[in-house]
Amino acid sequence: VPTVGRGGHAAHMEFGRPARATHEQGPARFTRARWAATTLLALGALAAAEASVSSSPPATEPLAQGVILISIDTLRADHLGYAGYPAPVSPAIDRFRSDAVAFSTDISQATSTLASHASMLTSTLVPHHGASFSKGTGLSPRAVTLGEVLQQGGVATASFNEAGQLSPEFGLGRGFDKYEATWLRHDRCRLSVEVKHAETWLRRHDDQPFFVFLHTYEVHHPYVPDPRYLSAVERSHYTGPLPALFTSIDELDRINRGLQPTNQADIAHIIATYDGQIRSMDDGFDELISFLKKRGTYDTTAIIFTSDHGEEFGEHGKVGTHSHTVFDELVRVPLLIKLPRNEHAGASIRQQVRSIDIAPTVAHFLGVASSPHFQGRDLLPLIAGAKDRARFAVSHLDSGDVSSVRTTRWKLVGSRLFDLTIDPGESRDVSDHYPEIAAYLQAQRVALVGLAPILTGPTVILPVAEQPALAALGYVNLGPHPGNRSIRHP
Ligand SMILES: [Zn+2]
Repeated sequence: VPTVGRGGHAAHMEFGRPARATHEQGPARFTRARWAATTLLALGALAAAEASVSSSPPATEPLAQGVILISIDTLRADHLGYAGYPAPVSPAIDRFRSDAVAFSTDISQATSTLASHASMLTSTLVPHHGASFSKGTGLSPRAVTLGEVLQQGGVATASFNEAGQLSPEFGLGRGFDKYEATWLRHDRCRLSVEVKHAETWLRRHDDQPFFVFLHTYEVHHPYVPDPRYLSAVERSHYTGPLPALFTSIDELDRINRGLQPTNQADIAHIIATYDGQIRSMDDGFDELISFLKKRGTYDTTAIIFTSDHGEEFGEHGKVGTHSHTVFDELVRVPLLIKLPRNEHAGASIRQQVRSIDIAPTVAHFLGVASSPHFQGRDLLPLIAGAKDRARFAVSHLDSGDVSSVRTTRWKLVGSRLFDLTIDPGESRDVSDHYPEIAAYLQAQRVALVGLAPILTGPTVILPVAEQPALAALGYVNLGPHPGNRSIRHP
């Protein structure tokens, strides 16, 4: 067996959790004293249990009063200050990082919005949930969502998001008591807007177990930052041929079709317009943290900060777009988890984890038994220091046509093998040098995709009234007909 991961059978590794009744053991009423008594004990006990058995023990005590999951659409893992990015893009997130556990390698399961969020919220791979924007299909009725699991466990659930590929027509609203998907002109997409909605809801619901899922397109193209944020992150004044204050989708389209030549300074400027949006989003994040602290709920709330996919800036021939490959600039996403009372604050976890691991972690925080359909694994034992089995990360294109399987060192993209330790840019196929590793990873991928039935979701055609807002994000959805799939930047 090649020395990748710790070996073992994929089926055993991924599907160890037994089905458990959830109704009887929904989260008990939470109190601060109770939290204090249970958190340390539970995390300590889990560390031992996870090391000795293949399945997580049932969660019976809530560790947090509530969980807030924030997904910043299109946010690269490496464009945040705490991750080493040189521009001052994320002061509030960097401060938050010192209260949180940072995962340096979190891999999303798809590189487009609908498919990736569907994986995050169902803890399944793309072929197993059926949701695909390019195919014009929503979530399969057979998929089980995190919201449904929590709702059955007595948790109040709400999502405030910016529609588009998260429109309720695609099925991601299943399991939310309130699913507020707001169509906004792209230049009005702001995390701070979604935070305001969440604050109103939290004031009425944060005395009971709750789950809030926030999403924004604020960082998504076109890049139209407020000029003051652009000047905060752009080191020198740009004097080239591109617009000085923004980057439009048409501009990116022209560049990617070879109609607009660019040099290094032009690309740096495009990146600065993207970064300016991150700096703006960071202010919205700061508002959320300030609200929770003022409200007195910061300590008892678990906060998970992540993204659905990254963005390419020339690594593999395209600029300012995503969903066209499964290379690292698109599958690597940030992941910060702040535990109640800042447990394990400042810890760093280098082991590779995946977006599908988020849902079982949220269930654990809230004391709700996870679903046997979830393919991810709870991250809390790993945080507590338990010995962890390798978490193979499988990622797909939205269409499902191309997939990758990744370990900390190796990545198989289609049939090409990359050694990430010496080739993090994934430019040299070494499958001829390491055929046994390529074969091993291929077997893992086949096993993981083979764990559940391949599902196709119901056809979704968004209302005509929503098409202009969709087009502003570079999307075209006219149904599942091949001729209508001229999506420039899905
Ligand atoms: Zn997205």
